[in-house]
Amino acid sequence: MKTIAERLKSALQTLHHSAQQVNRCVDDVTLLAVSKTKPVSDIQLAYAAGQRQFGENYVQEGVEKIQQLQNLTDISWHFIGPLQSNKSKLVAEHFDWVQSVDRFKIAKRLSDQRPANLPPLQVCIQLNIEQEHTKSGIDAQQLLALAEQIQTLPNLTLRGLMAIPQKTDDGQQQQQTFRQLQALFQQLKALYPQVDTLSMGMSADAEMAIANGSTMVRLGTAIFGARAVKNKQEQ
Ligand SMILES: *Cc1c(COP(=O)(O)O)cnc(C)c1O
Repeated sequence: MKTIAERLKSALQTLHHSAQQVNRCVDDVTLLAVSKTKPVSDIQLAYAAGQRQFGENYVQEGVEKIQQLQNLTDISWHFIGPLQSNKSKLVAEHFDWVQSVDRFKIAKRLSDQRPANLPPLQVCIQLNIEQEHTKSGIDAQQLLALAEQIQTLPNLTLRGLMAIPQKTDDGQQQQQTFRQLQALFQQLKALYPQVDTLSMGMSADAEMAIANGSTMVRLGTAIFGARAVKNKQEQ
């Protein structure tokens, strides 16, 4: 069995290699370690190995971990799961980033509920480019309108886009989706200079995501190992 530190190291090597293959700077691609369902002790191990960006999907679980690891002040916590309005306050109070913003109502609540003593919440708009019914996210046509609305909110900083493209064996289709996302990202970036984050790519498709401009790859299993299936009620 490999340790978390070893898995982290080899994941970073793979990311760096993928970046170099397409002449991108290795520092342009951030690794987000997705620690959902994993214990605090696993996060501590990854932290000890140098990891600082962590992603959580479930509000209650994420907040508990953040509170338990309060002494590790340089961790940046990303909320990446579907977000219901009744949980937005906890997220606004504890996380640094929310990557799964997909409607103005949630964005407005997050801004209103962000405590005044904290820096603005960094947000990405989640796109559902293949319009899969099972996934959150907006379609491409709604993107610019939502971005414009988010820009007006004082306690949010719009940083970019997040997407979870469909798993497929069709490399060409996958490539096309990534290219589409990259084009939308460029469009957004041209409008809003602070936009710098294209969060796409997971364990299976990180290399292709990086070849198509991803600036943040989200890896769970590759770092922490397989997860037990989570009961919906616990979310
Ligand atoms: C769980 C999750 C990941 C990580 O998935 P793995 O397959 O374990 O690498 C990445 N992004 C999102 C939004 C997730 O929910």
